[in-house]
Amino acid sequence: MSRSRKPDWLKTRPPSGREFADIRETLREQNLHTVCEEANCPNLGECWSGRSSGPSADANDRGGGTATFMLLGDRCSRGCNFCDVETGGMEPLDPDEPENVASAVAEIGLDYVVLTSVDRDDLPDQGAGQFAETIREIKRRHPGILVEVLIPDFQGEKRLLEKIIDAEPDVIAHNVETVERLQFPVRDRRASYEQSLGVLEYVDRNADIYTKTSIMLGHGEYDHEVYQTLADLRERGVDIVTLGQYLQPSRSHLDVKRYDHPDKYETWRRVAEDELGYLYCASGPMVRSSYKAGELFVDAVLR
Ligand code: SF4
Ligand code: SF4
Repeated sequence: MSRSRKPDWLKTRPPSGREFADIRETLREQNLHTVCEEANCPNLGECWSGRSSGPSADANDRGGGTATFMLLGDRCSRGCNFCDVETGGMEPLDPDEPENVASAVAEIGLDYVVLTSVDRDDLPDQGAGQFAETIREIKRRHPGILVEVLIPDFQGEKRLLEKIIDAEPDVIAHNVETVERLQFPVRDRRASYEQSLGVLEYVDRNADIYTKTSIMLGHGEYDHEVYQTLADLRERGVDIVTLGQYLQPSRSHLDVKRYDHPDKYETWRRVAEDELGYLYCASGPMVRSSYKAGELFVDAVLR
């Protein structure tokens, strides 16, 4: 497959429908931003309109699906070569953020929310406190909601991981992003394979919380390296994994080296679930870390 032309299976339909419009309106009113919209995520229609399947759902529940909120600002202290977020020029944290996010989540009626962030190496606690406060505020206002946090590596600092664990999210995710050999150039030099595996292992060993990670394909990795990464993660206790195609955000980002056919993703799903024992693996060209996270988690874990 030529790397210059996107294959047909990467084409998606634009989002539509009542749930989509309702959620967007609430976000505008609260002046909040989601990764879903900011990154122009191709799964937006599917994720936002996913019918309620969480524990709080009933026949009359307005229930949206999954949405991902970005905490700690929109500028990152790191500069990964696959990522479209701006580097440098970080602002002080917004003290109202935990409350604003919690009230938007309650108003939208989400059953499952994903909180993620830029990296904030510039802050004494790297933003872990704000993450924890946001989790608590959401759970206080919306008991029964499931909260997944997709956290930075916090430079492997255990005291910061403990802050997140203490706030009792339902899933702690941290993305390893790619195979060991390609960590750099794909990720910022401050990230590393071993540090990311260590974060996931620490959570697995010290908390009764599901762990999750994500791998992008298309950076030039070999199959045996993908297998090894899946095996390494599982050995460290990771419960859930997602695999998706890397798409180049602009010409100044890393080139796409390869587009794999959806059948290949299905093979990885079977390897992850049937051979390596993951609770579930979401795998497909358009899958992102938080793709239909609520629906898939409830189906695989809570049913
Ligand atoms: Fe993007 Fe995260 Fe890397 Fe920052 S740390 S540049 S937000 S991928
Ligand atoms: Fe939002 Fe994640 Fe779904 Fe994309 S995959 S629409 S970022 S929840």
